[in-house]
Amino acid sequence: MSQTTAYRSLYRVYRPQCFAEVVNQRYPVQTLQHAIIRGEIAHAYLFAGSRGTGKTSVARIFAKAINCPQQQEGEPCNNCDVCRRITRGGSLDVIEIDGASNRGIDQIRQLRAEVNFVPAEVRYKVYIIDEVHMLTHEAFNALLKTLEEPPTRVLFILATTEPHKLPPTVISRCLTFEFKNIASPLIARRLEQVCEREQITAKPETLAAIARRARGAMRDALVLLEQLVAYAGERPIELSDLTELLGLPGQESVEGFLDALQRCDSARLLEIIADLAERGKDLALFVEELIQQGRDRLIAALNQKNSGEEAADWVRLSGALLELERELGRAWDRRILLEVKALELCQAAQTPTPQPKVKRSKAKPLVQAGAKGERATPVAAGVVAGPEPVASAGKPETPRANSDPWSALLELAKRERVALYALLAEAQPRREGRKLQIEFEPEYQFHKEQLAKAENLEALAALARRVYGEVVEVGVSFRAASKATASRSSSSAEAPGQELQDKAELIRQTLGGELVD
Ligand SMILES: [Zn+2]
Repeated sequence: MSQTTAYRSLYRVYRPQCFAEVVNQRYPVQTLQHAIIRGEIAHAYLFAGSRGTGKTSVARIFAKAINCPQQQEGEPCNNCDVCRRITRGGSLDVIEIDGASNRGIDQIRQLRAEVNFVPAEVRYKVYIIDEVHMLTHEAFNALLKTLEEPPTRVLFILATTEPHKLPPTVISRCLTFEFKNIASPLIARRLEQVCEREQITAKPETLAAIARRARGAMRDALVLLEQLVAYAGERPIELSDLTELLGLPGQESVEGFLDALQRCDSARLLEIIADLAERGKDLALFVEELIQQGRDRLIAALNQKNSGEEAADWVRLSGALLELERELGRAWDRRILLEVKALELCQAAQTPTPQPKVKRSKAKPLVQAGAKGERATPVAAGVVAGPEPVASAGKPETPRANSDPWSALLELAKRERVALYALLAEAQPRREGRKLQIEFEPEYQFHKEQLAKAENLEALAALARRVYGEVVEVGVSFRAASKATASRSSSSAEAPGQELQDKAELIRQTLGGELVD
């Protein structure tokens, strides 16, 4: 970094100082410039948009342009005393208020008192209230009174990331502009310019990756670039620096995973997930990267001739990854969810035609509580009765001669339904006459829920009939704890979260009742 800017943040140095430097906000910028040229200044503006999209920068430029004595074509000169003072933040007449830390009625009352003093140095006094949605209800009411009877030569610029939280009465008093997120190629181009001026060496793909991580916020991109400069020291910035700084999954993991998804290599998928988990990588960030780069592959496929099939593959995979991202937020074990979903995706690709479905009958309660309460119902879910045993049922199919039926079933599942196998591998079987009950420990709630899905139960019932022969019904439940381990042990440090404990306890109590066929 050059000497002059060594102690100033890149974000401040490269903050736009005139409308021409603002990236990607053509509509608000042009409209404001025209208003300045025509001298038609409103009393209140609302700038709405995501963080880092230039709202307060544009507000400052606007404040300069309407006050600059040498304004040209709606642009401030940035040379006169007025412009310089506003740029420094030293003007008495351009007041920036952070709505998040000045949200009370007292601050707005004070503002209302000051508003009536005429501007000291310039034509227009400008109040810029950032994060205005953070103001309290009372503060909004006080602000509204000012907006309703605006003093002359005073104007307000309200900025917010969450316009839906503003009272409609406030919005209706303002001229509203929406600030768009900045597309990552535009951010990357700006980063390139900054690197050139600051003599920072970085490859285009590194800058593109920084731009992607910034998610439409120029400020975040510049802050990240600065962190990377500090991290790399004198040497050029590498993509691996970004990976290390943010704890991102390595590019080879992302590419390897997408390749494996495409060729349905489930072993490789599990290997990559295990590797990421061992290295403590954030799996949510990993899925984000998969989505980004999966989308790149989809677009590449669409741009090629005769690649309809590949494009269709990526449409399907991208959709599944987006769904996975949503589910990850709620999952208590991200690794298991990722594993199961990855295996499901492989399976779906390998079996394009639906398998013949087992006829379903209405689920009937598997468990009855000692006292007939509402608690009996949650555990009773997920029972599928298959059709009557067929003639060949007497001769069960056992893949391995000497193995017990459960091992045989697992073996069969591993070969034919690998996602089902991933669930069953954590379960214990229990036979009850003609029924096969699949039981999970309380911490395998996810497995239990997945297995209880109709399509999985049907597949399981079909496999079970082939192995056990006479079994016609399968059920899924938590395992009943012995009395000695109930309630007390659930307070140990290793126990699952409180909600899970409560559920497990409820299920234990319910299962304490008699099991019925
Ligand atoms: Zn000026």
